[in-house]
Amino acid sequence: MSFLNAEEPTVCDLIADFGINLLWHPSLGVELGNNLQTLLRDCISGTIPLDILVFEGSVVNAPNGTGEWNRFADRAMKDWLGDLAKVAKFIVAVGDCATWGGIPAMSPNPSESEGLQFLKRQEGGFLGKDFLSQAGLPVINISGCPAHPDWITQILVAIATGRIADIAFDELNRPQTFFNSYTQTGCTRNVHFAYKASTAKFGQRKGCLFYDLGCRGPMTHSSCNRILWNRVSSKTRAGMPCLGCTEPEFPFFDLKPGTVFKTQTVMGVPKELPPGVNKKDYALLTMIAKDAAPPWAEEDFFTV
Ligand code: SF4
Repeated sequence: MSFLNAEEPTVCDLIADFGINLLWHPSLGVELGNNLQTLLRDCISGTIPLDILVFEGSVVNAPNGTGEWNRFADRAMKDWLGDLAKVAKFIVAVGDCATWGGIPAMSPNPSESEGLQFLKRQEGGFLGKDFLSQAGLPVINISGCPAHPDWITQILVAIATGRIADIAFDELNRPQTFFNSYTQTGCTRNVHFAYKASTAKFGQRKGCLFYDLGCRGPMTHSSCNRILWNRVSSKTRAGMPCLGCTEPEFPFFDLKPGTVFKTQTVMGVPKELPPGVNKKDYALLTMIAKDAAPPWAEEDFFTV
């Protein structure tokens, strides 16, 4: 669904301008039943070349490693996936489930779910740590719950135009162009963050969501405030805390009651601070920031 929302470029652009032949997609694919199975088998046999395999959803291994809990086109999904992965030139994992298992892989993980090349932060996953696709690359991970549509289409364009070698990846095989900076980069609330002006309510335009509502923007690698959603907004711009959904640890604290939308603190200091900031410096900084805050730091100064 996120993919269908892409705007730069759109799904239509992929087909019309970049020559991508979309073999199948759950919403756009025209093949059904036996025809779909024939298409998949033709890809596996090499009759139809499979340049890019895009996978969404966790790899379900239950029960007992058979994968029978998630059947697709008359077989365990993981069996199709294993066969298609052997012939695909490039493999792209879209969303947290496909990249590192996502919510289904939360403890106790009854569906024995994992991602294509990671289980949470641990390398390996369904295809194994050393897996390389036919083009010699590991699985390209575009994380997020959901992944931003333009991250997906821009990576597909990079592959289709032969430019993927120009893209650097981080240690989790995420394209750095989208995952090097923090969600906080470009957030309209940075001035409130700097002066420790908090908001305690959703949807307000003033105040920062870090101090009370558990915003993970300073600790999360994503470009959500640089490449906006629907070209106009982001969670934090709309007054909703970043939940850190592009990181393998998402959902943090296993969604235990009292941990969602709530900053976890010890003696008033958040348990988790922006990387590289120590607790003593943080306490000093916020004391000064509060003291130095001008009156407008507490006001809604946005105009529409
Ligand atoms: S709302 Fe979140 S991302 Fe924005 S400035 Fe505050 S902590 Fe950072």
